[in-house]
Amino acid sequence: MHKKTLIELSQALQQRSCSSVELTRYFLERIQNAQHLNSFITVATELALDQARVADARLAQGNATPLTGIPLAHKDIFCTLGVKTSAGSKMLDNFNAPYNATIVEQCQAAGLVMLGKTNMDEFAMGSSNETSFYGPVKNPWDIESVPGGSSGGSAAAVAARLCPIATATDTGGSIRQPAAFCGITGLKPTYGLVSRYGMIAFASSLDQGGPMGHSAEDVALLLNAMAGFDARDSTSLNHPKEDYSTSLHDHISGLKIGVPKEFFGEGLNADVGKVLETALSELEQAGATLHDIKLPHTHLSVPAYYIIAPAECSSNLSRYDGVRFGHRCDHPEDLLDLYERSRGEGFGVEVKRRIMIGTYALSAGYYDAYYLQAQKIRRLISNDFHEAFKTVDVILGPTSPTTAFKIGEKINDPISMYLSDINTISVNLAGLPGLSIPAGFVNKLPVGLHIIGNYFSEARILNVAHQYQQRTNWHQQIPAGF
Ligand code: GLN
Repeated sequence: MHKKTLIELSQALQQRSCSSVELTRYFLERIQNAQHLNSFITVATELALDQARVADARLAQGNATPLTGIPLAHKDIFCTLGVKTSAGSKMLDNFNAPYNATIVEQCQAAGLVMLGKTNMDEFAMGSSNETSFYGPVKNPWDIESVPGGSSGGSAAAVAARLCPIATATDTGGSIRQPAAFCGITGLKPTYGLVSRYGMIAFASSLDQGGPMGHSAEDVALLLNAMAGFDARDSTSLNHPKEDYSTSLHDHISGLKIGVPKEFFGEGLNADVGKVLETALSELEQAGATLHDIKLPHTHLSVPAYYIIAPAECSSNLSRYDGVRFGHRCDHPEDLLDLYERSRGEGFGVEVKRRIMIGTYALSAGYYDAYYLQAQKIRRLISNDFHEAFKTVDVILGPTSPTTAFKIGEKINDPISMYLSDINTISVNLAGLPGLSIPAGFVNKLPVGLHIIGNYFSEARILNVAHQYQQRTNWHQQIPAGF
């Protein structure tokens, strides 16, 4: 059953050749047998079976959606009523949200069954899933390697076929980089397309939720459920509802692909580069044309991001004060002691590092020198893409310059860790959609192909990905032992 596509599973449910309860039990058992991956923080067995029973009743009544009865996992950054929401942090280890995130509600309304909550870097800060309070996630392709981050739990769970689809979030690459490292398909939508309501904030102007799955076809179906205007999110965009599945089959002859030299320069692993060249020629054979383009401010994206993201995080995380919710220290002496010890005990090293950088960058006298400059660079980066999309339809490159690295390899070297998002961060700074799909292997580890589109071009980039996946079978590979 775990080898079936979402459409095949959906058909099996609609034809009643299997029930949602059976399917849910099947995936719960797979999760149980793959505990060594540490991809879940919470498995919601009882709730999942209850939701599966409701889905079965709906299927029997004949008012099901294509997703009714399909099991999924949510990243533990989305608030779920009745199931702990930790954001990978000791700070929220005791937190039970009083409401559901909008996307959790949307998934429920479609009839999806929530298996549980996936592991993640603490407050989504990381590229390797090693900053989680709940310990690192293992990459199913090599359990000594990281799955990427911060959505490493969702990516590993999908790759190991513990769930057919999962939700995730991407602030600087956290959907696409783990999708690349785990050999799955992951989409970061246009900023504002998917509601942030009930999604625990890291850097609000960059955070965006999105779907993960095995193929562009599966991801399109989940995006259909997740996308949409939400009055409860002030940055939600009132974009007309689209069906992302309908244009998947369009041919791509005449498609203009921009190939930025900045993504293929030094720093790119040579073998990853070769995989990418093969992928590009595959798309040429499908009728696309390649065009050299320039994104001249790309090298400034990591420095600008590491001012803007920490600045926003230092402000967002000030709400964890030990008073209203989250971790509270024992026997505080006074208010200051309560704040200091609750925060000191509740946050991990990386989160503290970001809060300190952000507080410094925003402080009087430094604001103009750092934050304001970073915002100006952000504009230049957006303008680069704006110029590029005047001549090309999509932009392609590697999702990450390397394949998955070993657990422990970069955790004490923040700069090298930060550089692993060099190809994804500019997309968040500009608010654009980006997709990572599997394009091959180097030393038995997956390589991701990154497809960037203009605002609201999700249907187009999923179409390009689907056409590629019709011609290749990288997305169908399953790690040994799963
Ligand atoms: N790795 C980047 C960071 O640590 C991006 C994380 C994310 O997208 N949430 O900030």
